[in-house]
Amino acid sequence: MTGQQVEQSTVTLLTPRGRGAVATIRVCGNCQTIDSADPSLFQAANGRRMAQQPVGRICFGHWGEQQQEDVVVCRISNDVVEIHCHGGDAAVGRILEDLKSAGCCVQPWFDSLVETASIFEAELHNAVSRATTLRTAEILLRQQSGLLHAAIKQLIPVEWTSEEIGRVTGRLDGLIRRIDFGRHLTSPWNVVIAGRPNVGKSSLINALVGFSRSIVFDQPGTTRDVVDTETAFQGWPVRLADTAGIRDSADKLESAGIELARERLADADCRILLLDISQEPLPEDDVLLVEWPNSIVVAHKCDLPDLWNGRVPQSAIQVSSLTKHGLENLVDCLINRLIPAIPPDDAAVPVTKRQTDLLLSARTAIGRNDETEFRTAVQQLLN
Ligand code: GDP
Repeated sequence: MTGQQVEQSTVTLLTPRGRGAVATIRVCGNCQTIDSADPSLFQAANGRRMAQQPVGRICFGHWGEQQQEDVVVCRISNDVVEIHCHGGDAAVGRILEDLKSAGCCVQPWFDSLVETASIFEAELHNAVSRATTLRTAEILLRQQSGLLHAAIKQLIPVEWTSEEIGRVTGRLDGLIRRIDFGRHLTSPWNVVIAGRPNVGKSSLINALVGFSRSIVFDQPGTTRDVVDTETAFQGWPVRLADTAGIRDSADKLESAGIELARERLADADCRILLLDISQEPLPEDDVLLVEWPNSIVVAHKCDLPDLWNGRVPQSAIQVSSLTKHGLENLVDCLINRLIPAIPPDDAAVPVTKRQTDLLLSARTAIGRNDETEFRTAVQQLLN
């Protein structure tokens, strides 16, 4: 194999990293790269070398000499081979590394998309691959199928008249209003659960998610770091953060955890404040309620006698993580807060940061009555 041949082969991981049971790696170029490595990277069960495998036929075999990995390989064409392996990071990483050592150039999936599609098409493709629920995937697929493209094309004014500018501005503002929703189609909404130690934060997350993930322990101050759990409610992806119990603490490690909890509270899309109504209220409860006024308040452990004597805020949702009472109500309330208006099926939604930035630039340009800058931003959106 000559140095020139080696450079021609590119390797791309086609499936999202670490997300599926099976991963697919595509090798484009000279498939002899796989045969020529010493020791050979792939041993087919039928004993043939890669270059001798018939095109379009699936072939089982092993990857590597030591610690062999089971793989299924298919020559898609004379110069494209697809390797299907275990979807875990270790198997994928090892195959990519071996191919790199054999002289292949590893090309990120997005870069390989841009070679044959516009940035606009590639980023929608990429967004669909990052969907974690059916509901978000459906919305993203509708954008990919032309909905977003058509909506952006409608932003191009026929003439730069005040009537036309008014019409375009209305459409542009409609898209801008959906920026936050669109961002969360590929990145979960962040919900932070806060309350003093032992109010039942970990228990509530476990009850909501349906499995025991956080440590549930009845000595205050166990959760020192922010522990994230990703889940979905009604098809919407949500990241629940279990914060350190917020209270004054002399313990340095715990204080750092509390500081982190405050930062996460400030950045959250929604906050759930837990009050333990089976214990008399403490000043820390009031501090939380005053500091984070727009939160969902939960009167927790409502299976036990209420010791707050009418001091629980009226809007509080009664919940017991033990009996599961009130969980559905809490989830409904949370989703209403996160997504007050779910866009209709035929609504165009911007889904990437590039789209968002260009839409906002277009809005600034139209506000300044700058036709050239406006048309440039819209044209870039479609690139
Ligand atoms: P955290 O420190 O806020 O995360 O609190 P935990 O989730 O560790 O819970 C503290 C204690 O409260 C544990 O003994 C839980 O079993 C108990 N607990 C949590 N939720 C409930 C509830 O809804 N009802 C009752 N009776 N006990 C609960």
